[in-house]
Amino acid sequence: MVVILRQNADKAQLAQLENWIREMGLESRKTEGVNSTILGLVGDTSKIDIDLIGALDIVENVKRIQEPYKKANRKFHPKDTVVEVGGIKIGGGNFAVIAGPCSVESEAQICEVAEAVKAKGAAMLRGGAFKPRTSPYAFQGMRGEGIELLKEAKSKTGLPIVTEIMDISQLPLFDNVDVIQVGARNMQNFELLKALGHTNKPILLKRGLASTIEELLMSAEYIMSGGNENVMLCERGIRTFETATTRNTLDLCAIPVLKERSHLPVIIDPSHATGVARLVKPMCIAATAAGADGLIIEVHNDPAKALCDGKQSLTPEAFGDVMKAVEAVRPYSYKFN
Ligand code: PEP
Ligand code: MN
Repeated sequence: MVVILRQNADKAQLAQLENWIREMGLESRKTEGVNSTILGLVGDTSKIDIDLIGALDIVENVKRIQEPYKKANRKFHPKDTVVEVGGIKIGGGNFAVIAGPCSVESEAQICEVAEAVKAKGAAMLRGGAFKPRTSPYAFQGMRGEGIELLKEAKSKTGLPIVTEIMDISQLPLFDNVDVIQVGARNMQNFELLKALGHTNKPILLKRGLASTIEELLMSAEYIMSGGNENVMLCERGIRTFETATTRNTLDLCAIPVLKERSHLPVIIDPSHATGVARLVKPMCIAATAAGADGLIIEVHNDPAKALCDGKQSLTPEAFGDVMKAVEAVRPYSYKFN
């Protein structure tokens, strides 16, 4: 961290700042130039509140040199992390597609979709049991019963299951869930992230609707600092000023940027990013080409009758078509290392 001091900074206040830095267990190295004086902070600055320093009268500017995330940082872990889910690998050159309905609606629906996506090449089954809906009057999910139905679909197809947790109190229901999804709305539910850090379950962490890449990585850090390093990052579209056709704006650049900064696998969700079924295929192709480690795609056996997100759900046939296109692009995918 570098602190740029104002010209003629008050000596007593400067001594106080230097003292405080020492008390925080860091070294401060002062460089006096003709026009300004700079303090270089050496050591672990992750616990330092940058805004606190920036607000001091004697400080003109303060900049972090080192990222505030460590466990998620590629600098300290140059090799790609490979997350393993029931024999399926994601990351480090391993690519996998997660597919299934937005919500589990019935035994017949989830089992039918599971068989269909498996036949088309999906490696895992998704399905929401706890649904974060904007309206309290909308379908809220089948909750515990939905998880039971996912387990049934797993026993029929062998596909590992991915489903969203909305609250710490639901954790005991997730014992036999293979991947716990943290939805966009919960990306900064820090108590939930801490609790997941104490499990050994793979976590699919979705980027918040209006969160920066650094905030996403800091949320991953919450989980990892608790001891659980099985984290997959998911870009699912962010809110921008654009309203033409799309539900969100897919930040494709997040793929190479996340890969530069972190060793964690990056999954793209083109369904929630676009909100429109016909836009899912081009975004799957683009995300695969840009180096994503996997995709999570909403597929429904009867999209027009879906209880949630039917507009963005693919039919099994359309999903099969997407899988072929993705396979064709895979050999040309951008590789970070
Ligand atoms: C979902 O996966 O169904 C979902 C609600 O996603 P997000 O949290 O990205 O909106
Ligand atoms: Mn959905």
